[in-house]
Parts: sequence; structure tokens; C-alpha cells
Amino acid sequence: MEAYCVKCKAKREMKNPKTVTTKNGRQMAKGTCPVCGTTMNKFLAKAGTAAGAEKKAAKK
Ligand SMILES: [Zn+2]
Repeated sequence: MEAYCVKCKAKREMKNPKTVTTKNGRQMAKGTCPVCGTTMNKFLAKAGTAAGAEKKAAKK
């Protein structure tokens, strides 16, 4: 899974990604940057809304 590393300031392939659910019910992926070892977080779009959001973004 690809996520943005704040330390490298680049997108990296997340190492050992785990899906966690936050307090407000959002799905999040947590993993490690393969380059610098920083913990990476990525919010996952909710099921059902993901496709719509991506379509809107693509139209821009
Ligand atoms: Zn990194």
C-alpha cells in the first residue's frame, strides 16, 4: 500500500501495513516507511464513498 512519508516528503510503499479503526469510526492504515522507518498513516475512504470521491477528483 502506498502512503505519504512526512519525513521523506515522498510516497513510499508502506511496510507491514495494518488497518485500524479510529475513535470516530474511520479506517486507517498504519505502517512503516521502508526507507527511513517512520510510522506512516493513511486514511482509507469509507466503503461506498470511495468510488464517488475518486470520480470527482478525476474530473478536475
Ligand atoms: Zn520515509
